[in-house]
Amino acid sequence: MTSSPSDQQKTFVQTVKGPDMNRSRTITLSLVVPVFNEEDGIAPFLKAVLPIVEATGQACEILFINDGSRDNTLMALRAASAKDARVKVIDLSRNFGKEAALSAGLDFASGDVIIPMDVDLQDPPELIPDFIAKWREGFDVVNGVRVDRSQDTTVKRNSAGLFYWLFNKLSPTHLPNNVGDYRLLDRQVVEAIKVMPERNRFLKGIFAWVGFRTTEIPFARPERTVGTTSWNYWKLWNFALDGMLGYSTVPLRVWTYTGFVLALISFLYGAFIIAKTLLFGADVPGYPSLVTIVLFLSGVQMISLGVIGEYVSRIFIEVKERPLYLVREVIATLDHQDGSK
Ligand code: UDP
Ligand code: MG
Repeated sequence: MTSSPSDQQKTFVQTVKGPDMNRSRTITLSLVVPVFNEEDGIAPFLKAVLPIVEATGQACEILFINDGSRDNTLMALRAASAKDARVKVIDLSRNFGKEAALSAGLDFASGDVIIPMDVDLQDPPELIPDFIAKWREGFDVVNGVRVDRSQDTTVKRNSAGLFYWLFNKLSPTHLPNNVGDYRLLDRQVVEAIKVMPERNRFLKGIFAWVGFRTTEIPFARPERTVGTTSWNYWKLWNFALDGMLGYSTVPLRVWTYTGFVLALISFLYGAFIIAKTLLFGADVPGYPSLVTIVLFLSGVQMISLGVIGEYVSRIFIEVKERPLYLVREVIATLDHQDGSK
């Protein structure tokens, strides 16, 4: 371990400067936009977002994180950055996944308030002025809440519902329902998130865990305008598993009780068999019940071993303390930002 908890605490105390009290001043807005194979999405995104941001009268930077795209996304980003100094690009060395890309964005963003957004315009930019208004009222986190999931398939909607229900049953961290990554974060909140050392980035959970004064703004999520989603059910399942196992130890502990209950039942059943044999003599056809019990118990053992394996594999990843992402290049024109912190 390179950093003891006390070191982390020290950094944390240093980075927390207290709440930003003057909320009526002009601020800098950082839009953090992870992109993966979105060459056709960049221009429409900027075209939709820039007028709205300009209308708020605030300064802004648009920070794209190129998450190892294999198409011409990087070229499109370079062109956009050359044309407009507000557009900055962090080019990651490969595809690290959306959560890591977002983390990179939070690390490099320099604004007073930070808004993570999808590039496909599924996070309506019209909400930005409302986000800022809530921040000015004194909220540190403003969550965009999807009120309408009718664009999603029934399977996706139901599995998402089940996930939120189960997560909130199992985990002490409350995950607000239907909140994606579209939200406004105050600088202070981002500094707090940056100090969290875990590799297993389930950002929804991290956002919920850090707390601060939080409010919500409902919105209807439109369909993707260009390109295709890069999520499939297997990816979503693994995402859900990361979230669940990262924020709850119930799956690990439940086996103690299961084992205890099963042992008790086996003991009672054993006592019953002994009593029956003593009273009525040996029962030859005991074979089916025996096999059933053996199979059942070994099944339960397999599951519990699997659950332990899931946790151990996560511990394995955490102890390696690898960086979350690697930056190949920082692209910014004019006011070249020093990204090497
Ligand atoms: N994305 C990314 N890395 C990935 C997958 C996705 O940076 O490995 C970006 C993607 O370009 C988009 C955002 O994450 O800006 C959301 O992705 P998508 O629209 O595919 O997800 P959905 O809206 O279906 O949840
Ligand atoms: Mg999308």
